[in-house]
Order: sequence, then structure tokens, then C-alpha cells
Amino acid sequence: MTADRVLALDAGNETQYIRAVGGTTWHWAAACWRFLPNDFRINTLYGVGRDWPIGYEDLEPFYQQAEVMMGVAGPRRDEEDLGSPRSAEYPMPKLPWSYMDQLFGRILNTQEFRVVTEPVSRNSVTYDNRPACCGNNNCMPICPIAAQYSGAMSVTKAERLGAQLIENAVVHRLETDAEGSRITAVHYKRPDGSEHRLAADRVVLAAHGIETPKLMLMSRNDAAPEGIGNRTDQVGRYLTDHPGTGVTFLWDQRVYPGRGPQEMTSVVNFRDGSFRAEFAAKKLHLGNIADLEGVVDDLISEGRRGPELDRLIRDRVTRKVSINSFHEQLALPENRVIPSPRQTDVRSVRFAKRETEVDFQKQAGTDRSIIEGLGPFPIAEIPQVPNYVGIDPDRQRRRWHHWIEERKSLLRSATMPPRTSTTASSALWKPSCHLNRRRVHPPWLVR
Ligand SMILES: Cc1cc2nc3c(=O)[nH]c(=O)nc-3n(C[C@H](O)[C@H](O)[C@H](O)COP(=O)(O)OP(=O)(O)OC[C@H]3O[C@@H](n4cnc5c(N)ncnc54)[C@H](O)[C@@H]3O)c2cc1C
Ligand code: SF4
Repeated sequence: MTADRVLALDAGNETQYIRAVGGTTWHWAAACWRFLPNDFRINTLYGVGRDWPIGYEDLEPFYQQAEVMMGVAGPRRDEEDLGSPRSAEYPMPKLPWSYMDQLFGRILNTQEFRVVTEPVSRNSVTYDNRPACCGNNNCMPICPIAAQYSGAMSVTKAERLGAQLIENAVVHRLETDAEGSRITAVHYKRPDGSEHRLAADRVVLAAHGIETPKLMLMSRNDAAPEGIGNRTDQVGRYLTDHPGTGVTFLWDQRVYPGRGPQEMTSVVNFRDGSFRAEFAAKKLHLGNIADLEGVVDDLISEGRRGPELDRLIRDRVTRKVSINSFHEQLALPENRVIPSPRQTDVRSVRFAKRETEVDFQKQAGTDRSIIEGLGPFPIAEIPQVPNYVGIDPDRQRRRWHHWIEERKSLLRSATMPPRTSTTASSALWKPSCHLNRRRVHPPWLVR
């Protein structure tokens, strides 16, 4: 039995998820990948992880709905095959690739790699009363013109339809009926410290993959002494993320990163294959951000000044490129979230101490081979490995490594792309109807 690995979000640890109206999509990258059909059957196919009780085809119509609701731009089916069969085209055509992405795709697509357009929840045309992306490259932290979808847009629509939003209300306890089987009220606090109770016939918990289990575990009563829905000690377990690695290098020609949105293309040929029996699947993307600040800092600390500094800034900013990769992570019971034993204030949310092994080995494998694939020209420099946490030196071996970044926690298997669209489509999928008819658990419930 492996020891529990507990996600820590104690004070001092940074997290990137947002507790605000609209949630974390205020500053997401808006990549809207669907799972591949094989992601639902990884145990059957590769002997690892767990199969979903439903297949890709069950979720497909709901992916489509979610994409229409959020507004997703992507390639036509006859243009590019992204591996997930579609019943209809994306709601919007794909955005054009930047000069750098074109070069990247042209070089790698003649080799063993496959570079495709990343589907994104970002307007390529006017859509849903929002303008088309104008390419000003500010997607993370925020799109200033609302060309990129955020949850706040859906909140506004819900309010127009009559929903009442209570802002600045932090729920800290759920109340149940005497059997502990149904939530009957939520308790929340306002910034002035006042305490409130709201009773309801139906309560939907949608507070995020970390906050939701935390809330359930914090809500103990006589009927549910271990927390709501936690009789079998499963709540908070199976936490998954997609640990990231990355390499940064200087291209030997000016490629001008920073034009257009921050992510446009991905390398997808490591998303699936028999190797998943042993290694994590991964997806890579070319980061399209001009690192002016980092370059200037480096050059100044190198002692560069005056006209030489100006010249070198122009040279390096236009050549410094990052490739980031996201790795598949199996849903394992020992990877979990629990409320912090030290928590004293409901508004400063904390989680328990992390015990995860985090090693900082360089993940040099595929990322580096891609950079080498960008040859025949020499790679001038690989100065840093910026955003990885813990990939086994033996390359992507299936060990759990914690990366403090939020993602969905309760999906049965978690392939490597970000999964907001899978979460949204799962939410749209009518679980009760499927449950009755097919006697299956919805995918986000863990047996
Ligand atoms: C930098 C970054 C980039 C990302 N890029 C992508 C991407 O490209 N593609 C992708 O698919 N995903 C991406 N994600 C992930 C994506 O943002 C999340 O999957 C998505 O926002 C999850 O939606 P959610 O509604 O479950 O949670 P959230 O968006 O976090 O919303 C949770 C809501 O619950 C509220 N809440 C929480 N706790 C309480 C409480 N106790 N009481 C009352 N309200 C509460 C919060 O205020 C918030 O409004 C990214 C995330 C980050 C941080
Ligand atoms: S490039 Fe600019 S306009 Fe386009 S989505 Fe990003 S921030 Fe918005």
C-alpha cells in the first residue's frame, strides 16, 4: 500500500485557481481538447488506470454542446484530424497560425512528429456577441476584449435568465438530512464575518476539483462523521493533474514569438499508443509568448548595457522559444486533497501538508528530441527547464508527481490535455437518465 500523497495548498504555496465569480477560466489558456476514444478504455487497452463506465460516443454530443456554449474555434474535419471523432464541425473556423507556428509545423510535420491546430475557446469570428481575437497576446492572465471565453460570461447569461448571484459568499459547511444522504442547506460567510444559511431542494457542488472535495470533507455531522458522501473514504482521492515539463531554447533565426494568441498548435503523436502501458501519454505545445522581461533580466545580469543591450534584447526576444508538455496522470486513490488540519479561517482556504515526492530531474526526452527535430540548424542554447515538476529521470514513468496547479480531480482517467471541455460535457451529460437506463456511475463519481 502506498502512502497517501496529499495536495498541499497551505499558506505560502501558490495556486493558480481563482476563487471569484467566473472561476479559473478568467485566466486559462482556453485549449479545448476532447479526450480520445481510447482514453475511456485505458485499462482494457493498456492494463493501467481505470476504464470509464461510458465511452467516447456517449459523451460526444455533449462535447459538441459544450463547445457551442463556450464558443470553440478549430479545424474543419476535412482539414485536420484531431483524433476525436466529431458529429459536427467546430462552431468557429480555426484561427490562422502565426509565422512561428507555421515554421514549427512545416519542419516537424515532415518528420516523425504531428503538429496540429489546437482547438480553443477563443473567437475566430464574432460569436455570442463577443469580438474575434485581435491577437494581442494577453490570453493569460486575461483577454482584455473578451474574445476568449470565461465562466463569467455564463454567469451573466444565467443572471439574465433569472438566477440570483450572491457574491463574496464563501461556503464553509454543507448541511444534510438526518440520514446524511441529501444536502439540504449551505452555510456561507460574507467578508464582514456574518454567517448565513441557505436552504435548498437541490444543491449542485461546482466549486472546483479541489474546493469541492474539501468542502465535502469539512462538512461532518453525526450522520456523516467522515464528511458528506465519504462513507467509503473516497472523497478527495484520485486527484489528477497534468504535470508539466518544458524546455526553452534560442532558435537560430528570428521567429517572433508573441504574435497572436499564446497557444495555437500542438504536437499530438504522443497522445496515444501501446507505450501507455508503461509511459505516460503527453501532448506538447509551442508557447507563443515573447519573454521580454526574462531576456532583459538575463542580459542585465550578464552585464550588458547601452546599444549592445538593445541589440541583444531584439535578437533574443525574437528567438527565445518554449515548448511545454503536459503528461497523463493516472487516477490513484493515494493522491488526495484533505482540509488542512491547521485551517482556522474559512476564507483562507488551506489544505494539508504535501507529502508527494517532487523531484526536479530534467525531463529531457521527447521535448529535447523535438527541439533537435527542428534542425538541421544547430540549437543555440537550452538555458532552462522552466515549469516542470518531477518527471522520473527514466522519462515519464508512471509515478505521481504533484504540481500545484488546479485541474479536475474526479475523472476516472485523465488524459494529458487540459480537461475543462470534458468536465463541461460531463456536466451536460444527463447522468440520472443514463444511471437509470444503464446502471452506471457518472464518470466523476468514484466507486
Ligand atoms: C493558468 C491556467 C491555464 C489553464 N488553461 C487551461 C486550458 O487551456 N484548457 C483547459 O481545459 N483548462 C485550462 N485550465 C483549467 C481550467 O481553468 C479549469 O479546468 C476550469 O476553470 C475548472 O472549472 P470549474 O468550474 O470546475 O472551477 P473554477 O473555474 O475554479 O470555478 C470554481 C468556482 O467556485 C467558486 N468557489 C470555490 N470555492 C467556493 C466556496 N467555498 N464557496 C463559494 N464559492 C466557491 C469559485 O469562486 C469559482 O467561481 C487552466 C488553468 C490555469 C490555472
Ligand atoms: S490574443 Fe488577445 S484578443 Fe486574442 S484571445 Fe488572447 S488576449 Fe484575447
